[in-house]
Amino acid sequence: MTVPKRRLSKMKGRLRRTHYVASVPTLVKCTVCFDPVRPHHVCPKCGQYRGRVFVVPPEEDVNQSKEKEQKVSVVKKIKRKVKQAKKARSKPKAAE
Ligand SMILES: [Zn+2]
Repeated sequence: MTVPKRRLSKMKGRLRRTHYVASVPTLVKCTVCFDPVRPHHVCPKCGQYRGRVFVVPPEEDVNQSKEKEQKVSVVKKIKRKVKQAKKARSKPKAAE
């Protein structure tokens, strides 16, 4: 096993690490869903590449959309209740 002859100075190590730079990945639009995808890779959203299905798209999105729908429905229910309460308040005044 090779062993370094000398301890590398702080400066030498730090100088070497100045070249460690994260590169921005090149992205292309998916031909099916137009989401940004790495070129020559299967789309992570729809699981397709060049019009062929390779991976079943994750079901998390479906569940998330369901959750969103449920949240929206709850909000709608609350709004309906508020409207009904307002109507109930306004009706007796109109009767008088
Ligand atoms: Zn896609």
